[in-house]
Amino acid sequence: MSKTVTILGATGSVGMQAIDVARTRGYKIDALSANRDVRTMESLAREFRPRAVAMADPSAARDLKLQLCDTDICVYSGEEGIASLVGETNAETVVNSILGEAGLIPSLAAIDAGKRLALANKESLVIAGDIVMSRARERGVEIIPVDSEHSAIFQSLKAGRQSEIKSIILTASGGPFFGYTREMLNGVTLADTLSHPTWKMGKKITVDSATLMNKGFELIEAVHLFSVAPERVRVTIHRESILHSAVEYIDNSVVGELSVPDMRMCVQYAVDYPERQPSASPALDLIGIGSLRFYAPDTSAFPFLDLARRAITLGGAMPAIMNAADEVAVAAFLNEKIGFTDIYDAVTNTFELLTAHRASTDLDGIIAADREARAIANEQISKIGGI
Ligand code: MG
Repeated sequence: MSKTVTILGATGSVGMQAIDVARTRGYKIDALSANRDVRTMESLAREFRPRAVAMADPSAARDLKLQLCDTDICVYSGEEGIASLVGETNAETVVNSILGEAGLIPSLAAIDAGKRLALANKESLVIAGDIVMSRARERGVEIIPVDSEHSAIFQSLKAGRQSEIKSIILTASGGPFFGYTREMLNGVTLADTLSHPTWKMGKKITVDSATLMNKGFELIEAVHLFSVAPERVRVTIHRESILHSAVEYIDNSVVGELSVPDMRMCVQYAVDYPERQPSASPALDLIGIGSLRFYAPDTSAFPFLDLARRAITLGGAMPAIMNAADEVAVAAFLNEKIGFTDIYDAVTNTFELLTAHRASTDLDGIIAADREARAIANEQISKIGGI
């Protein structure tokens, strides 16, 4: 029977891949949301005829409403509009591929509505992992990760029990600057940063992959999703992005998931789980690949792995602060206001200035800390000045 999905952040990189899966798998789309890309949203609305659509940007919502006035599709506006759209969806699964902190409230709305959450928005767990996971447990809602590493871990965990886990092996491509020293990193440009060796992704996550902040977020995501201590998550650089992550069990068996790097497979698995269905992703040709290489991460040239470990160990709003400072610093880097290694300084300085927020654990406290971190990070960036 055909599945019904709601896709949030539909015009982004993962969102468009989710749309592609909906096309090939014949999922029915109940609702779609996007930030402000009216043209793409109109064409998706005409192709899939969802019950409702929402635009986070109110003026984009007004434009889209005009464009769709010959249809009976409801158009919602703003962040509250997205939350309402999720609250009343008829879909079995909500695919959340919104970028950044904006994805948190929609994740909670999907859980409150009792929908399966196919989660590509890692910030939901980075910012408020305890709240999201405990609310999902209370409501009996499944969170199936769409992030390729966590999808691999989720699948690998089918081979044993929670008490039998020795460690989680979280793989990382290492990004375009693998092997660089801190000194070499001082000289890298925006164009160098945006050329990722193995994955095609949005700009924000491509920069986060280059700084390894993305892997820091994923470490925090794994701690929440799989209830493991941060020290049990071991990051291993794996250049080919074929082994998407693995679980080491107490008998020293390692069970991992291997496939070509293709997010469509992860989206499809999350929606179809516990079934598997044929997919449009290419088959894995191990002989063609020949060899798989693994290395230890260089945590002194790439300090965000250790910062993320500290953030989750301190707890409270510290992961949210780290995320907020990173969102601001990466935006400044993408606008060529600061250099690559300035991202490290802006985020680390903001984090150190706000460590008192490790005591904030409720949603209001975390959101207040997020806003304060954005303001402090902006100050740090103006101090760094132009490049
Ligand atoms: Mg990932």
